[in-house]
Amino acid sequence: MAKTTPNHTQTVSGWAAHDSSGKITPYTFKRRENGVTDVTIKILYCGICHTDVHHAKDDWGITMYPVVPGHEITGVITKVGSDVEGFKEGDKVGVGCLAASCLDCEYCKTDQENYCEKLQFVYNGIFWDGSITYGGYSQMLVVDYRYVGSAQNLSNSNFITTLNLILNVTFFFCYLIIFYHVIVLSQRMNIIFLTQDKKSN
Ligand SMILES: [Zn+2]
Ligand SMILES: [Zn+2]
Repeated sequence: MAKTTPNHTQTVSGWAAHDSSGKITPYTFKRRENGVTDVTIKILYCGICHTDVHHAKDDWGITMYPVVPGHEITGVITKVGSDVEGFKEGDKVGVGCLAASCLDCEYCKTDQENYCEKLQFVYNGIFWDGSITYGGYSQMLVVDYRYVGSAQNLSNSNFITTLNLILNVTFFFCYLIIFYHVIVLSQRMNIIFLTQDKKSN
């Protein structure tokens, strides 16, 4: 169950799965206020990826219901925190599957946040304030600007093309995550097998 924090005051309409049937229904929830390093994004489009389906149906046994999927997010910035660099209101942007990382380790300092041990995802993750993250099947998103990609300086016709590019890039990350899950699961299974071997000896 999502931990309610005092600054989660913004009411947002979205779509959530509530159990392993995977059925997505309208869902109203809260998002945090826009912090100093956050931008608020009015979501215009969000891709539907098979990872979203896996999470909705709890195929990997890690879903925290209710889950608001969606990690291929595009939209327009409506609010900018005081410490945000490189973005302004009205900018067209995209957000992938990452919502938070330590920003201090060797990976975070070399633009490889996806390897950070403290990495958290844009939905079904746990943000620093203890709240469960909710994804892009919703009206708006509050996100740290360091996990936002710019789609600015594009005409509206090119915006759609760029959205496709962003979606393709996030698809790529998504496959990396699936690959990661497969590796981790196989390693865990090896550990179990090794433990069983030890016990049987
Ligand atoms: Zn890190
Ligand atoms: Zn995906």
